[in-house]
Amino acid sequence: MIHAAPAQLTIRLLGTPEVLFAGTPLLLHDQKARALLYYLAAAGRPRSRDYLANLLWSESLESNARHSLRSSLYHIRQALQARGAVMRTCPDFFAKLHNRVRRRGVQLNEFHYTSYAQEIIFGQGAIAHLREAVEGFSWRRLMLCTTGSLRRDGSVALVEKALGERLVVTYEHVQPHVPDFQVAEAVKLALEYEVDAIIGLGGGSPVGMAKAVSFALEERHAGKPARATFVTEQPLVAVIAIPTTYAGSEMTPIYGITYHSNGTTRKITVTDVKITPKLVVYDPLLTLNLPPGMTASTGVNALAHCIEALYSITRNPLSTAAAVAGVRAITGALPRCFARGDDVEARSEMLKGAYLAGTALSSVAMGLHHGLCHALGGSAGVPHGIANGIILPHAMRFNLEATAPQLAPAAEAMGITLAGRSAEVVVQEAIEAIYAMIGQMNLPQHLRDVGVEERDLARLAQAALQSQAVRNNPRPITEAAQIEAVLRAAW
Ligand SMILES: [Zn+2]
Repeated sequence: MIHAAPAQLTIRLLGTPEVLFAGTPLLLHDQKARALLYYLAAAGRPRSRDYLANLLWSESLESNARHSLRSSLYHIRQALQARGAVMRTCPDFFAKLHNRVRRRGVQLNEFHYTSYAQEIIFGQGAIAHLREAVEGFSWRRLMLCTTGSLRRDGSVALVEKALGERLVVTYEHVQPHVPDFQVAEAVKLALEYEVDAIIGLGGGSPVGMAKAVSFALEERHAGKPARATFVTEQPLVAVIAIPTTYAGSEMTPIYGITYHSNGTTRKITVTDVKITPKLVVYDPLLTLNLPPGMTASTGVNALAHCIEALYSITRNPLSTAAAVAGVRAITGALPRCFARGDDVEARSEMLKGAYLAGTALSSVAMGLHHGLCHALGGSAGVPHGIANGIILPHAMRFNLEATAPQLAPAAEAMGITLAGRSAEVVVQEAIEAIYAMIGQMNLPQHLRDVGVEERDLARLAQAALQSQAVRNNPRPITEAAQIEAVLRAAW
């Protein structure tokens, strides 16, 4: 806590680095001290510890925050002393601050994440290398989970051609949201044909189905819930993913399954490191038939994964690097893919962006945006990709002040100039550009356009407040009213 009589602490920023203290110019060469003084000055009165802690992780004091603040306060203390003023900090100030900073994951010099042993094959016509890769893993009996539309557009035939007799069974009518009765059917087939790996070809549902079958087989084998004891544990029956959308499931250890009983449905999310696909084949040629609507909605989902990874409280250097590169690829290529689905070059760039987004997503905790999208999917039936398009700009706006330094590199990757402007101004421009891009791709931009009633907003806010993602939001969310305001803006 900083104690300084308000009358003594008349500090006005006169353009850096000169600061007026009680009428006397005070030169501060330490940028951090300037930032701190600026905040004190803007308020015109001493601020609470909480305020300073918030300032810490929202301003430029990000890396090595504790050390920076310590040296900043030292400079300020010296400067004040020289003018006969007193600044005191309470005894546990630094300990409490440090804990808070750590909890927020702000100190990038400390990070912890799991990466998965995966083989990734990327390129036009990469599907032709599937056999070689499968042989490398010694898988002999493979099962394919996919949808009727991929059978009709010839994608399934390409997998059949690549694998030959190693493909022993195909389940080709996977429905959206991975219904439990379909998982049971597919598990039965997997057992009957004694498969040793399962391929998910398509979007989130076929890839989710492959994960669900792998998970169920693991449970049967172990006779107990299949949870990996060690993150390096290998699955009994491996998952292979061949994505044809941009939603990113191929890179993650997560799937959703929908349980149907007595006319009601319940969606459960399962996370287990063992079901993360061991082999992922990205072939842009398989995405040429993805319709414009799905291109736009799953593409914005990928963009949201990058944005939430950038400001995630558990971000790490790799997730940040992947997310910035992902934003660059996606914002450059997505409108082109939407306009011309058969633009192979744009499709390649976009799929690369989705891969980077999935990589970022796989190692960090998501925040408010995904918490809201999941609440909208679970309680109001809004498809994930559509919810993404509506919520993303509003979630970014809510987090603007707290996350502008983290999002500025994304704005720069979008071609927005940083020179001499504050991170907040730059990120504000990025939010507007993203909002415009979503509109240009004809995605819905208001909750009222997708069947959400105004009277539902309070209930949705309550539901979202329970989500782990909302609790992990970089700007703390403590009450439903904060969420309801975001939903109202999006309504
Ligand atoms: Zn998502």
